[in-house]
Amino acid sequence: MRIGIVGCAGRMGRMLVQEVAAAEGVSLAGGVDRPGSDAAGRDLGTLVGIEAAGVTVGTDTRALFAASDVVIDFTIPAATVAHAALAGETGTALVVGTTGLSAADRHQIEAAAAHAPIVLAANMSLGVTLLSALVEQVARSLDDDFDIEIVEMHHRNKVDAPSGTALALGQAAARGRGVDLDTVAQRARDGITGARRRGDIGFAVLRGGDVVGDHTVVFAALGERVELTHKASNRQVFARGAVRAARWVAGRPAGLYSIRDVLGLD
Ligand code: NAD
Repeated sequence: MRIGIVGCAGRMGRMLVQEVAAAEGVSLAGGVDRPGSDAAGRDLGTLVGIEAAGVTVGTDTRALFAASDVVIDFTIPAATVAHAALAGETGTALVVGTTGLSAADRHQIEAAAAHAPIVLAANMSLGVTLLSALVEQVARSLDDDFDIEIVEMHHRNKVDAPSGTALALGQAAARGRGVDLDTVAQRARDGITGARRRGDIGFAVLRGGDVVGDHTVVFAALGERVELTHKASNRQVFARGAVRAARWVAGRPAGLYSIRDVLGLD
């Protein structure tokens, strides 16, 4: 199975190149980064600190899709929407880890998924996928005497907030409660906000240092609280999950799949 990496010069892209190069039964179809990237023309292997791969970093994304059975995309929303359209045109399977997608971006990815199999997951780690299932279960068991708050911390270079994972955990909690997240989400508080509204799902965001990704979902009632926490200590967990998703999605019928589908949790 040939796997192509778009955004191969990024933090996650480099990790993915390493992971694919080391994995059994898969090979690197190539990698591209944005036009004008300093990485263009460099050997994909030496770029990421492993032995030379004999393939250089390109900028021709269409050619990479044509040469790949599956493409993995951890880039930026505008690029991901374009990559999803290419997947739809070529029928190439796609694994998307990009976060910060708007509702309009999601619609475009869904439209492309009518023509190609696409896995979309804000967090590819096994632990967070399990955490999400647990959050849904706890939210279903506890009524709104328990206030739900989601706290996340990431490294100083992260550009979107709250994290895609925090929002996905919010969706899981809302699903468990049988409510629509958009109507109960409290994404920021500042100044005289008044008392907390019963049933809201609150988000708090911390940024600093090199934190790979910490998420805690708090269920707080009078006199007791339950906290469910996940901490990622390196990016390899996401890259490993993405390669697992790539193996799973290749050859599937067109459609939009989640990481829960990949892990067989639904
Ligand atoms: P990064 O900024 O280090 O890397 C992004 C890369 O995408 C850069 O190399 C950039 O040049 C490249 N890029 C931008 N436009 C492009 C284009 N048109 N074509 C090809 N490449 C293009 O960011 P990162 O830390 O690697 O994170 C990337 C994304 O992945 C973010 O949205 C982040 O939140 C997300 N992420 C998801 C998971 C998960 O498990 N789903 C885990 C970690 C990070």
